[in-house]
Amino acid sequence: MNHNLYAALRAAFPKDLNATAIETDDGLFYSWSDLERASAMMANLLDSLHIPKGSRVAVQVEKSVEAVMLYLATLRAGYVFLPLNTAYQSAEIEYFIGNAEPAVVVCSSKNFGWVSKIAFKAGTQNVFTLDDNRTGSLLERAAHWSDKHQVVQNKADDLAAILYTSGTTGRSKGAMLSHGNMLSNAQTLKKYWGWKPGDVLIHALPIFHVHGLFVAIHGALLNGSKMIWLSKFDPKLVIAKMPEATVFMGVPTLYVRMLAEPSLTKAQASNMRLFIAGSAPLLLETFNEWHERTGQTILERYGMSETVMLTSNPYAADARYPGQTERRGGTVGFPLPGVSLRVQDDQGHALPVGEIGGIQVKGPNVFGGYWRMPEKTKEEFTADGYFKTGDVGKVDERGYVVIVGRSKDLIISGGYNVYPAEIEGYINDMPGVAESALIGVPHPDFGEVGVAVVIAKPGAKVDADAVVAALKSQLANFKIPKKCFVVAELPRNTMGKVQKNLLREQYKGLF
Ligand code: ATP
Ligand code: MG
Repeated sequence: MNHNLYAALRAAFPKDLNATAIETDDGLFYSWSDLERASAMMANLLDSLHIPKGSRVAVQVEKSVEAVMLYLATLRAGYVFLPLNTAYQSAEIEYFIGNAEPAVVVCSSKNFGWVSKIAFKAGTQNVFTLDDNRTGSLLERAAHWSDKHQVVQNKADDLAAILYTSGTTGRSKGAMLSHGNMLSNAQTLKKYWGWKPGDVLIHALPIFHVHGLFVAIHGALLNGSKMIWLSKFDPKLVIAKMPEATVFMGVPTLYVRMLAEPSLTKAQASNMRLFIAGSAPLLLETFNEWHERTGQTILERYGMSETVMLTSNPYAADARYPGQTERRGGTVGFPLPGVSLRVQDDQGHALPVGEIGGIQVKGPNVFGGYWRMPEKTKEEFTADGYFKTGDVGKVDERGYVVIVGRSKDLIISGGYNVYPAEIEGYINDMPGVAESALIGVPHPDFGEVGVAVVIAKPGAKVDADAVVAALKSQLANFKIPKKCFVVAELPRNTMGKVQKNLLREQYKGLF
């Protein structure tokens, strides 16, 4: 059997290959046959370069359907896709290209000058351009090749992609994902989220991360579903497209931005079957407000570059959790079928239900290791083969997983553990507060203390001292932030994750 991921996706294409696979926001219609033929041409071009199987194809381009075709081409020809965040500048690209040593680099034509210099210096022979208006040397060269291509044979554990983590907690690491990691996860999600004939996905995420590239695109392709393709997120446009669609996936900030639009109503959302959120914690307030405004309950799930998806709130009945069909805000749901998840303390002891510790996972979706980091890989796996996610949380009495923060964000103040998410939850509930971040900063007496950074709701005034005073009446003293700042916004990366490392850096000299 061929475990090549493209072979499985291709097998799920609808019978009518002339039907629309992707409809773009600039009025283009791509058929299933377009995806098959263009990816074949690009695969033939890659093959013509005489690069060994397993070579990396590094891609830093604006979002486009052609970039998806290049992804599919890389898969079907047996090379390794390596997407890079479009925000990365020369120092970052130098690190990634130097680290990954790709055989092929594809970049935007506006960056060709400096990217090609870096690539050639790192020994890459092939640099192509690809722009989001269907131009670039990649397409010009691919046009000369046949639109027929035999998908290569792969084993389940052959490498398919290297995904650099978001770099929220430190330097990005290249997670090595196999064809089997991604296909098993896509198949599980297809079932768990009840994908069905006629589903249409609104795709509004970037395509250099797990969420937009793997969860969203694999989901639609494996279901033979049409995608409504937005080159970038536009809240008004997503809402306008809802009557033609059934599924939407977004990071929490996208939901917040849509809630600010008066056009978001129950009637407008009535054709939608499923709203999925993940990549960063979804505030309970957003979850509740979305329900009030649209009558629909967001389904929150949890995953990471190293594992694709790990847990999900239930879409429908889950035989493993009888009677529990509720999508519960503030939780990320149950471990997906096939995923074993446990919570351990720092000494490696399993913790009982309800107790907070490090989340560890095992399953066919878990990556093989970090690219060229054997030591780091070894550190992050337990002796019995579980991957330490770096996230801290618990499993509640009903089986729902709750994430309270990341182990790197944990604050140890005077020897006591302070879980940022707990304190942030209390602050977020205060009148006038939109959101908050609690960070640990060095302190001469306590080692570390909490500092709260708070954002007020538009038009509201929040008093920093009053926040601290209010917490004092609710929580133990060691949990109380020693200082609070009300600021205009929190630093976030493109996936809407709060960059606490930047905040820690900013406030490190306070005490
Ligand atoms: P790095 O590993 O480089 O520090 P990163 O962990 O942010 O960056 P990703 O792999 O893109 O890089 O993100 C995975 C992380 O995102 C998870 O480990 C978790 O902390 C967070 N995450 C994902 N989904 C959720 C969710 N639903 N709720 C809370 N956190 C989430
Ligand atoms: Mg991580």
